[in-house]
Amino acid sequence: MENIELKRFWEQVKEELLGALPENAHPWIYPLEISGYDKGVLTLVTGQMMGRDILRRNYYDLMREALKRVSGDENSRVVIIYDENAAKTLKKESEKLTKKINDKSLKEQALENLSNMQSAANLNLKYKFENFVVGESNKFAYSAALAVAKNPAGKYNPLFIYGNSGLGKTHLMQAIGHYIIFNNPKLKVKYTKTEDYVNDYISNSRKTNNNIENMSKFNRKYTNIDVILIDDIQFIESKIKSMENLQYTFDSLYNKGKQIVITSDRVPKEIPTLTAALCSRFEMGLMIELTPPDIETRFEIIKKIADDNDLQYEEEALMYIARNFSNNVRELEGAFTKVCAYAEITEQPLTLKLASEVLKCKESDTEITFDRIAGVTAKYFDVDINDIKGSARGQKVSFARHVAIYLSREITNQSFVNIAEYFNKKHTTMMFAHEKIKKEKDTNKEVTEALREIRQALKLL
Ligand code: ADP
Ligand code: MG
Repeated sequence: MENIELKRFWEQVKEELLGALPENAHPWIYPLEISGYDKGVLTLVTGQMMGRDILRRNYYDLMREALKRVSGDENSRVVIIYDENAAKTLKKESEKLTKKINDKSLKEQALENLSNMQSAANLNLKYKFENFVVGESNKFAYSAALAVAKNPAGKYNPLFIYGNSGLGKTHLMQAIGHYIIFNNPKLKVKYTKTEDYVNDYISNSRKTNNNIENMSKFNRKYTNIDVILIDDIQFIESKIKSMENLQYTFDSLYNKGKQIVITSDRVPKEIPTLTAALCSRFEMGLMIELTPPDIETRFEIIKKIADDNDLQYEEEALMYIARNFSNNVRELEGAFTKVCAYAEITEQPLTLKLASEVLKCKESDTEITFDRIAGVTAKYFDVDINDIKGSARGQKVSFARHVAIYLSREITNQSFVNIAEYFNKKHTTMMFAHEKIKKEKDTNKEVTEALREIRQALKLL
């Protein structure tokens, strides 16, 4: 299964589990993350040893039955693994917190905040400001996030952070949570993935038949807090009832002067299913974009991981990786980890030679910019680059422009807003062109051919 399918599958199973298991088992279900589903075996990971034991001992059969119902496979099995690293980090962070805060009840509240965040947040506590490398592409987002962390519900409310996948949205959002838990322990922080909010809402309203009293219990859970962090709002999809409820959550918090932080892979207007009411609420505070980091920042990001882990390396090796993974920090880190693992297993130093053997990147001489893409595209179609960037009409120029826009997005992973700036047009025009070519790329021979030839000329094939 592809990652995204896997995630969907797990969401379905999770919903089934929440329906099948009694409520007191739910806190052990939420932190579970899917690690894989292969030959009927569903592997789940948790940072809670007790959670693993309780689920294994008491609910194994119920879990298996729930999985069977979703997968339709009679031989389905569930395996739950305890991830020691996640547990260790939590322990370390909790100890720091205990040292820092003297007041007993504040300490309890802060520890609870921390553990909630850890369990809801993909087992990750490394997402702090001090682990975030700041460069041109993210300095505004970083400053805004830090300002919110230092002064919640101050100037920027809501804070809406958007940008493509793997650029640090979740990292910055959780850094805010982390900072507040440590520096302002009176405040109650809640991190939630949008899918979890939606599933929680759906399972609650199903269980209670929309019973007002029970729903208000659900609502208290999300409104009786000081800072809410809602990750990946684009996953709200077309769940109308959930959106109505989210609007209620938003208004209750906002009117009480509580901080709201939201992330998304695009601006609110580009989320097709979002209600106008939510859209305008999200736009009311500060919207800030994360774009792919430049090469220096990319280099610093992996250098920091290497230095933090006391690794020995040749700088050229890091340069090579930084040069070749330019659009997504998650992939950049993945490539670096792969090279490190290889170096460790084969007991070799981390050199440029090793990195290039492991990753086998096709290096192009120059970085691929909008200008290069538009230039090569113009040449291919035999039109003037200035016409592509300008407002010239005519079928040939328009076609070339659409192809150049499509490739700009696909190759650089930049936002439509940035691409629009280069092409001197509205970002909705960029989205339209991209969508059009995307639809035609496998069915229209002329498009297929053009894309192949241009990519080749850009030395990407
Ligand atoms: P998103 O939520 O935008 O998809 P994440 O926040 O999950 O992205 O970031 C992906 C990975 O890249 C994480 O491991 C994160 O720590 C790392 N990362 C992203 N930007 C930076 C940065 N500026 N400095 C250090 N690490 C970063
Ligand atoms: Mg994220």
